[in-house]
Order: sequence, then structure tokens, then C-alpha cells
Amino acid sequence: MEKTIIHVNPKFTSQKCSKCEYIHKNNREGNIFHCLNCNFELHADLNAARNIEIPGKSEYFRLLSTSQSLRFHESMPMGMVETSNKPLPSGKGS
Ligand SMILES: [Zn+2]
Repeated sequence: MEKTIIHVNPKFTSQKCSKCEYIHKNNREGNIFHCLNCNFELHADLNAARNIEIPGKSEYFRLLSTSQSLRFHESMPMGMVETSNKPLPSGKGS
């Protein structure tokens, strides 16, 4: 059973600056995110969305590339990569 689960801690996404990654509970002022470290300002929900998107994506692509390389190695000895692109040269050489 293979299942890809990407964990993103939702607790800090609303407190974490999507620009400089500084985390502080006072970064958020109601609906507005205001970074105390770099003065970056954004709607709090948008800032949280950015924080969820970026680490989630990199983890997803890491897992994706891992599974792809495994599949690539499995199919290599059978030559299935070649035959799927072009028909077998059956009439050649005889
Ligand atoms: Zn910041």
C-alpha cells in the first residue's frame, strides 16, 4: 500500500512570513499579515496559502521524482521504453 501524504503544519502557516520565513504569533494582525522581521505585508489568508504551497510542492516533486526513477529502472531491462515510442523493426535484416 503506497500512499503519499504531505504534512504541512497548519499551526504556523498563518504566523510564518512567506517571504523571509520568520515565524511569530504577532506577525498576524487580524486579517492582515505583517512580518515583524522584514515588514512584508499581505492578506493573512494569502500569506498562509503561500506557506502551504511552497513546502508542499517541493516535497511532492521530491516524491514524484523518486517514484519515476524507480519505474525507469524497472522498465530498463525489458526495453519497453524503446518499443513504446516506435514500432518494432521486425522486417529488418532478414
Ligand atoms: Zn518576513
